[in-house]
Amino acid sequence: MQTLNAVRLAQELLLPKVSHARCIVDATAGNGKDTLFLAKNSPEHGTIYAFDIQENAIETSKKRLMEHNLDGKVQLILDSHANIRSYINKPIDVAMFNLGYLPGKCHETMTMVESTIRALTDVVSQLSVGGIISVVAYPGHHHGKEENDAVRNYTMTLQPKEFTVLCIDMINHLNHPPILYMIEKIKSESERSEEILKKT
Ligand code: SAM
Repeated sequence: MQTLNAVRLAQELLLPKVSHARCIVDATAGNGKDTLFLAKNSPEHGTIYAFDIQENAIETSKKRLMEHNLDGKVQLILDSHANIRSYINKPIDVAMFNLGYLPGKCHETMTMVESTIRALTDVVSQLSVGGIISVVAYPGHHHGKEENDAVRNYTMTLQPKEFTVLCIDMINHLNHPPILYMIEKIKSESERSEEILKKT
């Protein structure tokens, strides 16, 4: 059994934050497995916003949540995560992006560089101090490689005094295995400006 897989590691690393989070985003609901993980492990008063552009993904996620009596905690949104700002205008504590396509379903519908980076940028700008984002990218196919490069390049631009970015890559596996990025906000921009002012 492989315990060190990107999706599982994302959940394990997010868990301590999820248990205290109030505003949570699943940017790619898919089959609802991550959404269920978030709903199960978040506090009673937490709200989860789960996005997907495929109607069947929203239906499957809803069914999965209902089976566990957790559908009341989740707002399932049939829309692109690129429109996150139209639905959430408060600080985000935890967000998950599991990129690519829905396993076992239509492989034509997959996340795209432009909307992924739009959504990631918006979530980063709304992330609370102490908040955390996971991104699982799949560089094993041409489009996924382009998307992974875009995620990597974008996350490398984040100010190190405000954010910590971790990248986990299974370097001995063949065929470009999934790559996990974790982005944590460690300080607000105003705290950083104050520090700069104090030094001058
Ligand atoms: N987290 C899911 C789970 O636990 O089952 C797996 C997600 S699957 C790898 C990727 C999903 O992203 C697909 O269901 C796809 O429809 C969705 N997707 C693609 N583009 C999207 C977009 N712009 N906004 C929201 N979801 C999108």
